[in-house]
Amino acid sequence: MSRVAYVNGRYLPLAQAGVSILDRAFVFGDGVYEVCLVRGGALIDELRHFARLKTSLAALRIAAPVGEAALKRILREVVARNRVSDGLVYLQISRGAARRDHGFPPPGVAPGLVVTAKSLDPRLGEANAERGVAVITLPDERWAHPHIKSLQLLPNVLAKQAAREAGAFEAWLVDRDGFVTEGSSTNAWIVAADGVLATRQADQSILRGVTRATLIDVAAAAGLRFEERPFTLEEAYAAREAFLSSATTIATPVVAIDGRPIGDGRPGPTTMALRRKFAAAAARS
Ligand code: PLP
Repeated sequence: MSRVAYVNGRYLPLAQAGVSILDRAFVFGDGVYEVCLVRGGALIDELRHFARLKTSLAALRIAAPVGEAALKRILREVVARNRVSDGLVYLQISRGAARRDHGFPPPGVAPGLVVTAKSLDPRLGEANAERGVAVITLPDERWAHPHIKSLQLLPNVLAKQAAREAGAFEAWLVDRDGFVTEGSSTNAWIVAADGVLATRQADQSILRGVTRATLIDVAAAAGLRFEERPFTLEEAYAAREAFLSSATTIATPVVAIDGRPIGDGRPGPTTMALRRKFAAAAARS
């Protein structure tokens, strides 16, 4: 079965789906995106993804190409047409196609909307969770607004590739003061040596992960001691547990950082409990 994409009002086979070479996503990376997990055909935490999309669009002063109800219908249609039961749905909004000029295009240029969906075998994520994954660390060299989910991902791309070439799953980024910000496409967490669960506060230095927000709810409901605060790389090396979170990885244990085992080098109990409880806490729609 060939995959189907939604592109600016039309559902097209992936091979025939395209946008103008003047689209500003292509020329400038001038756009935003969202990735939503699909489980059993349902969208997970869709409202939180929509809320963040709204914030990203407002931050970049891009108009929504369609209303929220229409966007919901399009996401479902793309999921259905691609027969995705477990996987993800991706949506991208650009500032539209216009004669190349750095400044915003004239009024009347419509923003562009692309939606795709793909299946992912959930057993792969489970296998990663059972084994745990390794991360490396790199300096955080991104722009000053990584809290906006923009298409400007070159430093993230290079960091992920460096991780792969090092045989690791992810790269954790470290700011100039030695504090971990987040991963190239995931948020970073530890259970510190004192047993307190910690993840960096969602200020301008990280993306406010939707999964992160739901995991904070799970931690609160479980009565875990939890702090939103920066943690240093040294603290992470000495942590009892570490893990990363995102829509597709949920909570995946980190068992080594820069080749050093974390805790006893195996997935930790707090991480695995949060992962187990995520499904019940997340909204399905
Ligand atoms: N941090 C970055 C830089 C990301 O790109 C992502 C997801 O793509 C996340 C964190 C996790 O966010 P979410 O849980 O909403 O997938």
